[in-house]
Amino acid sequence: MSLSTLPPLREVIAAHGLAARKSLGQNFLLDLNLTGKIARQAGDLRGCDVLEIGPGPGGLTRALLAEGARKVVAIEADPRCLPALAEINAAAGGRLEVLSGDALKLDPSAHLQAPVKVVANLPYNVGTELLVRWLSPDTWPPFWESLTLMFQREVAERIVAKPGSKAYGRLAVLSQFRAEPRICFELPPQAFSPPPKVTSAVVHIKALPAPRFAAAPKLLSEVVARAFNQRRKMLRASLKGLVPEIQSLLESAGIDPQRRAETLSLEEFCKLSEAVRVARSQR
Ligand code: SAM
Repeated sequence: MSLSTLPPLREVIAAHGLAARKSLGQNFLLDLNLTGKIARQAGDLRGCDVLEIGPGPGGLTRALLAEGARKVVAIEADPRCLPALAEINAAAGGRLEVLSGDALKLDPSAHLQAPVKVVANLPYNVGTELLVRWLSPDTWPPFWESLTLMFQREVAERIVAKPGSKAYGRLAVLSQFRAEPRICFELPPQAFSPPPKVTSAVVHIKALPAPRFAAAPKLLSEVVARAFNQRRKMLRASLKGLVPEIQSLLESAGIDPQRRAETLSLEEFCKLSEAVRVARSQR
């Protein structure tokens, strides 16, 4: 059996009793043209290891292998999917390694070799948490070259948002600080089985070789989280307690303390977090 002669996904789902479970965020992609299109957004996969989260019955997994990935490491929480994934592995000459468990708890790094691309139709319940982790390592560049991920459209818009927009917040700053995100295309609910309530979008995030502006990542994350926790408030109020003299610190960083978080550019957030770092080191 080769990848192209594997049975259609509907048959696989019926044969293995893979009725979708809401608790696991299971909305499967059954159209292999579509999974091929998603896999191609990640660029040339030949010579790359791919990390996939939540392969389910394996529609996207098949596409990643067919596009020539050197190896696919897939983390799946639902053990019912393992026999279907074993069939794909056999058809792909052993290039698929499945780690059975929760992606929030398993560390796949020992199973991957650079260059690594992450491609996933993420379970919505863990997608944002995983994205924040992938974007937040202390050292850069990270273990991945790019992330090609399915999100709810609203989350995708938050990732690429620019200052001044409603969607602009912590996710935009984190995603754009050391990486370059873009929305590739949208998918209507009917593309999935069962259809979710919302429109989805595929996002491609490319790691930059270095941060766009100097800032300590953990501190930047703290500053941004505080600023957007009370996004309607002026910065002098929302950032109160970050350092004793927040008003004068904002002024010395060239930021009007009366401004709101959503008006600050990435560069200004980096400048502000550097000023906080210096102020704290002088205490
Ligand atoms: N990739 C498949 C596709 O495109 O048809 C399935 C996508 S479905 C949206 C999400 C998948 O993630 C399901 O197979 C689900 O069992 C799995 N999943 C849910 N939570 C998980 C977790 N914490 N760790 C690993 N996999 C998880």
